[in-house]
Amino acid sequence: MKLINKAALIYFLLLTPFFCFAQATTKLVTLGEVKDAVQKYYDSGQYDSECKKIIDDAIEHINKMTLNDKSVVVFDVDETSLSNYDLTKSIGFGYIQNLWHESILSAKLPAIKETKRFYDYLVSKSIHVIFLTGRFSEVHDATKNNLIEQGYTKFDTLIVRQPDETKIPAAEFKETKRKILTEKGYVIIACIGDQMTDLFGSNTGYKIKLPNYLYSIE
Ligand SMILES: [Mg+2]
Repeated sequence: MKLINKAALIYFLLLTPFFCFAQATTKLVTLGEVKDAVQKYYDSGQYDSECKKIIDDAIEHINKMTLNDKSVVVFDVDETSLSNYDLTKSIGFGYIQNLWHESILSAKLPAIKETKRFYDYLVSKSIHVIFLTGRFSEVHDATKNNLIEQGYTKFDTLIVRQPDETKIPAAEFKETKRKILTEKGYVIIACIGDQMTDLFGSNTGYKIKLPNYLYSIE
């Protein structure tokens, strides 16, 4: 008991100044300032140039890989292959579920330029492409149409969440699907996504993380 008390006292003495310091130096900014910074990041070309560097590195890495006829790269969809930036900006960087849903159903989201360049490179190397998204099955067809419309015309399959999979955490859902792909004989050489949940777990290959300052998914 004495040991515990002593440890607690040391802990208190050591950490209290840290917390006081952290509290005293926290600088808040307005929500408007944050939104302006995010918009500037995307509209100024900084987002594109960061994506370009990431894709350049990925291509350089894959160029050194030994490939076979079952080599595949797994693509996420939202904020990886297709962009919801215009909608998000138009509503002041919030999230309105029915507008988001309508936008997906409209199948008119633009491709993310650097991801499309990466896709074209993979197709030119005869590397398989599979889309794996947390979107639900009701928007499967709209998603597929949107991808094709934006030039992602050659892919093996588009995997979406089935009705009994809607509550599975994103990382677990994607890892399970990747495992099934490997059991079918695919060799996943890389995964590309905008969320860490796209890249957690096994069977990812080389991990390609694109920036996303619009939202994060647990
Ligand atoms: Mg995404």
